[in-house]
Amino acid sequence: MRRINEVGLLDFLRRNGPASRVEIAGKLGLDTKTITNVSRDLLQRKMLETVGLVSRGRGRPREMLRLRAAGIHAIGLHLTEHEIAGAVIGFDGNILLKHQTALGGSDNRKTLVARIRRLARELVRAHPQALGIGLVSPGLWDARERRILRCVHLPGWEGVALDDVFANLWKGPVYFESYTRAKALAEHWFGAARELEDFVVLDAGDGIGCAVFHEGKLQAGYSHMAGEIGHCVVRPGGAPCVCGQRGCLETVASLAVLREQTQRASGRDLRDALTLGQPAAVASVREAAQAIGLLVAYLTNVLNPSHIVLVGETTELGPVFLTPLQETVTACAVPALRDRVQVVRGQLGAVGALLGAGAAALRSVFTA
Ligand SMILES: [Zn+2]
Repeated sequence: MRRINEVGLLDFLRRNGPASRVEIAGKLGLDTKTITNVSRDLLQRKMLETVGLVSRGRGRPREMLRLRAAGIHAIGLHLTEHEIAGAVIGFDGNILLKHQTALGGSDNRKTLVARIRRLARELVRAHPQALGIGLVSPGLWDARERRILRCVHLPGWEGVALDDVFANLWKGPVYFESYTRAKALAEHWFGAARELEDFVVLDAGDGIGCAVFHEGKLQAGYSHMAGEIGHCVVRPGGAPCVCGQRGCLETVASLAVLREQTQRASGRDLRDALTLGQPAAVASVREAAQAIGLLVAYLTNVLNPSHIVLVGETTELGPVFLTPLQETVTACAVPALRDRVQVVRGQLGAVGALLGAGAAALRSVFTA
């Protein structure tokens, strides 16, 4: 019970900013004595601090409480095929410290793990009071064994057990998330989805994935693999995909495919070709947007979200991508659901996955 009250108080202050004990008790439906006891403990643990007195009408001025950024922070690590970025991230999304190291795609397991450990050690030494480490990486994750099952882009990462990476270096909790779920967590905590409860994040770039929030909670599925929308077959018998199937959404709509098609048709870089309004490039992007839009329409019908939040590099191509996507959703989702869903852009861009790694570790502080 005490833990539930503690989480309630911390989450209230995270969402609403500074408040008095009386105000918090009123909003959480608890008595002031309970809040006084819980906050005393959190003040001692340096997770809260007082910020002066505020007068509200009659009665004596009330002391305001707020979360202490220096006391509530976590380490986020973001692994890609080219580099590993690490940061110390406050509960409010502020980056307190950041380091990064280049990786070679062909690094073997030993080299890869050594590079990650070196970077993590620097951050842990600078901020030993961090509440956890969150790691975001490519690859399929086995949640029960806490191990990377498969990783096409970083072969050295395959089979690595997460807890071995941080052995003798970090005693606290370690969390894993996929790219897309990390970006979704970041948008929910710090970006476009702050006040939302039921929404879908669609991530379109070289990979395509989605993440579903229901009643404010991120859904990971039975074995932590939910969201593989990029491997829904949209052209049965089509081009082979890295996953082993044929005709997956990624084979027609990934950014890598768009770059390749444009290069082949015009000998130009995708962005240059779009700036010049080259018809072949515009047509490729439109076709990709329609294929993704159709799946967004299905998600809208199945899940009835209030918002679809678009993130990832492809969404940065602008109206050439976004307009046909929106048109497809409008044309293909059930009108009653379509009229209630808003398609919006994420706010965090390239730093989203790193912030989400931090949020993955901070999440346990704010949820019972
Ligand atoms: Zn596939």
